[in-house]
Amino acid sequence: MDSAVKSPSLVMTAELKSLARTIRPAIIAIDGPAASGKSTAGFRLAQLLDYLFLDTGVMYRAVTLSALAAGLRIEDEPAVSELAATVHLDIRAPAAGERDGRHCTVLADGADITWAIRTPEVDRNVSAVSSYAGVRAALTEQQRRIAERYGRGDAEKPGIVMVGRDMGTVVVPDAYLKLYIDASPEERARRRYNELRKQGKPLPYAEVLQDIYHRDQYDSGRNLAPLRAAADAIVIDNSTLTSDQTLGLVVQALQTRAASGLRP
Ligand code: C5P
Repeated sequence: MDSAVKSPSLVMTAELKSLARTIRPAIIAIDGPAASGKSTAGFRLAQLLDYLFLDTGVMYRAVTLSALAAGLRIEDEPAVSELAATVHLDIRAPAAGERDGRHCTVLADGADITWAIRTPEVDRNVSAVSSYAGVRAALTEQQRRIAERYGRGDAEKPGIVMVGRDMGTVVVPDAYLKLYIDASPEERARRRYNELRKQGKPLPYAEVLQDIYHRDQYDSGRNLAPLRAAADAIVIDNSTLTSDQTLGLVVQALQTRAASGLRP
């Protein structure tokens, strides 16, 4: 096949094979606001490198859903924090029979809640839940434990891509590569609006945009682990980029990091 018509991800797979061998075990941290495309880019990068993909947002969503299902008031910080410390979360790569578009499978106390955490009700409440110190302490500890295992090379995959709001600043500040993926609020709202329509759960664009503004404000304005780029993160604004182009820049950033010669 003419290389000009090869899909960019296929070309990168070949290039990345030797690159991936030189940078393992490694932790890659990706942060950014809601619907910036960080999970899509992180998931695709993890596939290319054969790393585990861990979207930490699902953990905050899982605690929010569990609190709602238990009938707790979301404003009841002590009760929600206690639940975060006791609920058993298990995040793993999708099994063969679970290929329904999910990036990972999320279990809370054994129940598969992968899609249940994607409702507008969870969207509306998750930022409040994630601002609680007890919730952050419980989930940060779990995330660090997972990261340490992968960072030591003591896991089933040679590395991990961790995605969230505070990976580069709080959870794994010593990550091999730190990225911050951003896009304008209008573009992020447009993506979320289209996603909801595709899922047969349309909401008016103005409402989706409002929710994006609201979550941005909450996530960036909170005292604990606010959303921001780490000082040494590479910032990618993908407002006018496709998913392939974003992945291209992510891979470029990784190649530049590897060329610096510093080991993970
Ligand atoms: O990434 P996603 O939109 O699924 O995350 C849901 C919410 O979880 C975010 O709006 C944010 O409030 C919270 N979150 C967080 N820290 C992380 C990941 C997510 O506070 N590391």
